[in-house]
Amino acid sequence: MSSNETSRRFLVQQIDLGGAAVVLPPAERIGQDQSEEQTPLPPESSEPADSTEAAASPAGPAAPVAASAEEWTAPDGRVVRGSARRIALARLLYEVRDCTRCPLGETRNRFVFGTGNADPTVVLVGEAPGAAEDRQGRPFVGPAGRLLDELLARVGLDRARNAFICNVLKCRPPGNRDPQAEEVALCGPILRRQMEILEPALIVTLGRFAAQTLLRSEAPMGALRRRVHDYQGKPLIATYHPAYLLRNRQAIEQVEADLFEAGKLAGTLPS
Ligand code: URA
Repeated sequence: MSSNETSRRFLVQQIDLGGAAVVLPPAERIGQDQSEEQTPLPPESSEPADSTEAAASPAGPAAPVAASAEEWTAPDGRVVRGSARRIALARLLYEVRDCTRCPLGETRNRFVFGTGNADPTVVLVGEAPGAAEDRQGRPFVGPAGRLLDELLARVGLDRARNAFICNVLKCRPPGNRDPQAEEVALCGPILRRQMEILEPALIVTLGRFAAQTLLRSEAPMGALRRRVHDYQGKPLIATYHPAYLLRNRQAIEQVEADLFEAGKLAGTLPS
């Protein structure tokens, strides 16, 4: 593998794991795994010694986030360093990234776990990966993602600094069809575990599907916006999906207003 490719993977890995302190395993170790980008390695039998969650994959019963954790060696030799939260997130990623519990596990190219800061102020939740996300393994990387980043910046939010972005479903539904109830039921525990680990000050849902799923509601977006909801004890604000904004520019103002409230609630803007 070229050093450029190694560097690229390193940077992508850092962002995926939410920070800057991921240490690559020796290059030859990575070189053995040419298929990793497309087909992540399953956890090997050498589970972390103190792993209580390993048997519960994917995203079964929550393992407590150990306050003292500072370093973890993943089954493929990567050493992950950082906060307990960051390490818990990395462990969860390795648990679930080969998930085939629903048929989307057979049709996806990449498992899209989520990206951003592992100690986030805000977690943003979309619907499911699209084609670009499925190719790159990261959420909101197309035009809608760029618009989202722009809108977040206006209220002091940034994926690298204080936000984590993920989806209800971690794999792309073929042809971007609507997620099915069974897929949501099987994938839901991963999102719940992410929330338990990340413990954001605020959750922001993007689009009707994410809002209705997290709030177990069938209410339309119009009724879900402009209120602060509760999701497992955390405040939740619902706003429109950035892809909707690309088709309906007039709604940008409403999303700006929602995100302004979010910024005040999360403390990135003065209240
Ligand atoms: N739409 C979503 O809901 N999520 C993505 O990651 C991309 C597009």
